[in-house]
Amino acid sequence: MKAIYAGSFSPPTLGHLDIIRRASSLFEEVFVAVLSQSEKRYLFSLKEREEMLSRITRDMQNVRVLSDEGMLVDLARRVGADVILRGIRDASDLPLEMQMAVANRRIGEMDTLFLVCSPQYSLLSSSIVRDCARHKAPIEGMVPPEIVEDIYRACATAPDSK
Ligand code: ADP
Repeated sequence: MKAIYAGSFSPPTLGHLDIIRRASSLFEEVFVAVLSQSEKRYLFSLKEREEMLSRITRDMQNVRVLSDEGMLVDLARRVGADVILRGIRDASDLPLEMQMAVANRRIGEMDTLFLVCSPQYSLLSSSIVRDCARHKAPIEGMVPPEIVEDIYRACATAPDSK
């Protein structure tokens, strides 16, 4: 079975990477899709987020990173994914995740599977990483070491983006 794991990944965190690593051993192939919601201004461009994800997943042979500005179900169908994969941190993630799962089932006839995140990452989010980096606080232990400098650099030049 092939899964598509989508998000804004602004920036990718160790929590995201943990889900990708676990998915790569569960599924034949994992597509990691960087998506943009058009109304948001992001700290990194779609291509920059795609490049960072490619860099931190390059040891996983069955993981393919892509980006798209359209609807997730259309992309999922185009690449031949069987299911959508999402990560759940705690119960407060559920209402929105369930709404999206029902919508994707209705519009794309595609099921969503959830992986519960590893406990050490349950309080970690991209927005916490951005807030820390903007104030030059340490972000080691939150994101893969290969992208720490990219995040500080981006926060220094575009301080108030998502
Ligand atoms: P979105 O803006 O679409 O929610 P994110 O980049 O924030 O995208 O997250 C992408 C996916 O990763 C979502 O399923 C989200 O619940 C999950 N996720 C976010 N943070 C973590 C974490 N710390 N551990 C595990 N999964 C996470």
